[in-house]
Amino acid sequence: MEDIEHIEKQMKLIRADGRRLDGRKPDELRPVRIEAGVLRRADGSAYIEWGGNKVLAAVYGPREAHPRHLQDPARALVQCRYNMAPFSVSDRKRPGPDRRSVEISKVISEAFSAVVFREQFPRTSVDIFIEVLQADAGTRCAGLTAASVALADAGVPMRDLVASCASGKIDGVVCLDLNKEEDNFGDADCPLAIVPRTGEIVLLQMDGHLTLDEFEKAMELSIGATHRLYEMQRDALRRRYSTTLEDILKEPPPLPAPPAPEFEPPPPPPEDDFGPEGI
Ligand code: UDP
Repeated sequence: MEDIEHIEKQMKLIRADGRRLDGRKPDELRPVRIEAGVLRRADGSAYIEWGGNKVLAAVYGPREAHPRHLQDPARALVQCRYNMAPFSVSDRKRPGPDRRSVEISKVISEAFSAVVFREQFPRTSVDIFIEVLQADAGTRCAGLTAASVALADAGVPMRDLVASCASGKIDGVVCLDLNKEEDNFGDADCPLAIVPRTGEIVLLQMDGHLTLDEFEKAMELSIGATHRLYEMQRDALRRRYSTTLEDILKEPPPLPAPPAPEFEPPPPPPEDDFGPEGI
């Protein structure tokens, strides 16, 4: 144990040139790519790659809440299940919920409860599923950011999207968006989620210790990043839903109408008992 603590203290996370071990500056975000509408069966979906994180979000609803005793006659429930795939981390993760995933599911559902117009859908549930396929720290922020796009993709009425990013402290330096090594061997990590249009904070957690000045600096970095993520979220939705003149022109011409059935002469009238000459 002492050895491990010794190694942790020895681990240098900021290089001599002031950059981090992955080459980023303290205020630099990892590369982010968001795609909306990636699953056919869900009402809404999104996929995010954020540094080494790969996270899928799917949304159903609003649909009748089950079991019925959970139904709220005045508003919709917003329920979330955050799950890490067994292969998402370096040591195989035991499948199924654990304390950490229950906590993350809870804070994410509370964050979205603040933006969904729940009163419009009494007795229903909006169900959010977040599947972490590959984890490299910051998965709750990545999951939240993707789930927000999935909710918009499902057409769930919301005040605004929610964007999320963490900041922390490594080697005594306040840094944006910690990766796995920085999260493990750093001094603090502080995930944040905001409603970008109003600046309302819908999630704020802290692991480790920060002074007030460091906390303010971390908030400044995270809030700046959430505004950039907000643009990426909107961009993903625009790419999914906007149609340009070019797209319309690219569409194949409509299929030709099926050929009309060939003219068939009506059958001759049946011969009656009086023969073809008639009476
Ligand atoms: N992690 C892991 N095994 C676990 C849980 C977490 O290897 O059972 C790793 C994973 O890479 C995760 C990181 O530790 O992203 C940080 O986890 P934390 O609880 O801080 O949540 P996150 O930063 O992912 O929101």
